[in-house]
Amino acid sequence: MEGKDAKEEIHWVFTASTAPKCAKLEGTVDVDVLVIGAGLTGCRTALGLADAGVSVAMVDSKGIGWGASGRSGGQCNPIWRQTPQELVERLGERHGETLIKTTLTAADDLFSDIRKYDVDCDAVQAGWVQAAHTRRAARNLSTLGKAWAAAGADIVELDGGAVRAASGSPAYSFALRHAAGGHVQPLSLTRGYARTAAAKGAQLFNDTRMASLERVSGKWRARSDKGEISAENVVLTTNAYTNDVWRGLRKTFLPLVSNIMATVPLSDTQQQEILPGKVTISDSRLAIYYSRYDRDGRLIFGCVGSSDTVKNPGDLARLRRGLKTVFPQLAGIPIFRKWAGRIAVTPEMMPHLHEPAPGVLAGIGFSGRGIAMTSVMGRALSAKLLGTCADDLPFPIVPITPLPFHGLTRRLIPLVAPAMTIKDRFDTLIDGTS
Ligand SMILES: Cc1cc2nc3c(=O)[nH]c(=O)nc-3n(C[C@H](O)[C@H](O)[C@H](O)COP(=O)(O)OP(=O)(O)OC[C@H]3O[C@@H](n4cnc5c(N)ncnc54)[C@H](O)[C@@H]3O)c2cc1C
Repeated sequence: MEGKDAKEEIHWVFTASTAPKCAKLEGTVDVDVLVIGAGLTGCRTALGLADAGVSVAMVDSKGIGWGASGRSGGQCNPIWRQTPQELVERLGERHGETLIKTTLTAADDLFSDIRKYDVDCDAVQAGWVQAAHTRRAARNLSTLGKAWAAAGADIVELDGGAVRAASGSPAYSFALRHAAGGHVQPLSLTRGYARTAAAKGAQLFNDTRMASLERVSGKWRARSDKGEISAENVVLTTNAYTNDVWRGLRKTFLPLVSNIMATVPLSDTQQQEILPGKVTISDSRLAIYYSRYDRDGRLIFGCVGSSDTVKNPGDLARLRRGLKTVFPQLAGIPIFRKWAGRIAVTPEMMPHLHEPAPGVLAGIGFSGRGIAMTSVMGRALSAKLLGTCADDLPFPIVPITPLPFHGLTRRLIPLVAPAMTIKDRFDTLIDGTS
């Protein structure tokens, strides 16, 4: 099956654990906390609250994990693009230091949650190779890696043949290897959190798109087409799929696209050479090439895209070219499935925690670092509602600030993928590969 015949289907739907029972909201529900958006952030928040005995309802306009969480590459990439020092400068000393501490344990915390809640999600913690595509990117990555290693992260530099031995890719001569990285079946992880939250009493609703949120008689009331939920507190975890339920929120980030595909299963010999030991890889391109195995030995490969499907021939060609660049050994390998999803990218590539009104929180904008960092945010959101002081959270609470010219920039998103690809090629040409 060649790429053009590959099925346009989200691969994870076919290998996920069963979906927890949900119902469409009809009538009126009254709870302490309403979580709007059932991706990893919402599900981890609902789990933290239900675990503490809080009455929670969680709604999703489609279903648990329908958004980025069920489409994701599922790679747990446990550091930010900023050095610890830059985090302190950006967030202030108190939040910066808390975020550094939280980041250093983010991957281990995720995998220990998976064990603690017995989530069946094909979790593998075999490391992450973060590769540099140019010499300049290599220098930047080296600075980043040294800074995080000095803070306590288990990171080593690889160069020359060591990069190829660790990744199976001949495309790079410099990389960082993060021991704490790994990968999960992202839809199973999302469903697992939701199932555990439901077992602890959370009410789950699918096909329930909240269209409005208003203050009525001292409580928040959210309305869908067939029902309404009253709650003391509301948490918005709608990320790149945010609508106008809270004014201005969807304008705080750009909903970029990532395209992704699954190959046919690789042979045992290929699996010994390519991403040996089931390590994951991603690189420093703007278009970000990333890859990992699924549980059946299919290679999952993704990069930036231009629309919500991979029907556009340019998108499929970009994926194929990317795969051939990183793993030329696999040129021409049949593609089994392809799909796309939205990534909420903030200007500084860090998520935002908002509290736009008393009793309303939002955690949005993971900028492609969602697998590890939605857990950090979900814990922070539930901790805040359980009484943790705002100063002790890893993220400062920031105002909702719409990006200038958001409408115009949004319309240009289909051009982002080709533009990034051209810039990456230009950089490689003038700077040489790492
Ligand atoms: C193709 C792709 C590959 C990726 N790969 C990686 C990766 O390898 N590693 C990594 O760290 N990150 C990756 N990411 C990013 C990561 O998946 C996301 O950051 C993360 O899943 C975001 O989770 P979330 O819960 O915040 O949002 P989502 O999972 O997007 O959930 C938001 C939910 O809100 C719902 N919703 C929106 N509005 C409403 C409303 N009004 N009422 C009710 N429900 C509503 C939507 O239906 C949606 O299900 C990838 C993303 C994509 C798209």
